[in-house]
Amino acid sequence: MTLWPADYSGAWTLAHAVERHGVGLHSGQQCRVRLQGSHRPGYWVCRLNRPAEPMPRLEPSLVAETRLCTALRLESGPLATVEHLLAALAGTGVSQAELWLDGDEIPLLDGSAAGWVEAIAEAELLAQPQSIKPQVLKAPVTVQQGLSFATALPAQTLQIAAAVEYPQAAIGRQVFSLELTPQRFVEEIAPARTFGFREQVEQLRAAGLIQGGALDNALVCDGEHWLNPPLRYPDEPVRHKLLDLLGDLALAGLPQAQVFAYRGSHGLHTALAAALTQAQGTQSLDFEQAQAS
Ligand SMILES: [Zn+2]
Repeated sequence: MTLWPADYSGAWTLAHAVERHGVGLHSGQQCRVRLQGSHRPGYWVCRLNRPAEPMPRLEPSLVAETRLCTALRLESGPLATVEHLLAALAGTGVSQAELWLDGDEIPLLDGSAAGWVEAIAEAELLAQPQSIKPQVLKAPVTVQQGLSFATALPAQTLQIAAAVEYPQAAIGRQVFSLELTPQRFVEEIAPARTFGFREQVEQLRAAGLIQGGALDNALVCDGEHWLNPPLRYPDEPVRHKLLDLLGDLALAGLPQAQVFAYRGSHGLHTALAAALTQAQGTQSLDFEQAQAS
């Protein structure tokens, strides 16, 4: 029996609550997340120590910083490194859930989404009666930042592709594309770990960042070699880019589109998520106007 929905057309939440804790990438502090079901579409965030506060729905307008991870600014305070957890939720087909937090970061776990997929499997998926409003595109949406660009084209399903190009021979040029389903996400994308470069790691550490980064939660590249092999896939870096892209798009809900990101970054991905949200807004306006005329 397969655990996961066949595609992204249904509304699913979590049947039970599940908790995970671990070190945050940047602060190096322990943080904890409890995931539980929600009756409302989208991902909702609340603090475990302040349960009476309003619970905002995550959306691209909350993005505050994208240099090393996707960090949000909520009324209740900052929240960093949301992307792997959001990728796991959206990727497995969980379209709605509550995230209860203790700490200002989502735990990094092993640097991939595998631990979150395991947590979601433990919580079990629960079908919701309402259907999902598909995020259908009428026209292409493209965002560009320097040499990087990301584009979303109208399509019947979610097809997703990424290409990376690095001067370091251990990575070089990698391309990966797939027609995404929850099962394929779990098998081909979720286990891919975050990666970094030796010289960058040393600089960031010295600057007081990535205090929680270690050789057991990130692949570290030293030019022609990896400091901590083996890789889980020969093209693990580009698969991780797809994981990050999905996590960032999840802020707007996964689109029904053909998405391609060239030399993606959290800045680029969240800009695409914001542009898709804006396009959806314009489209629903178009739709209402068409209905009225
Ligand atoms: Zn990542």
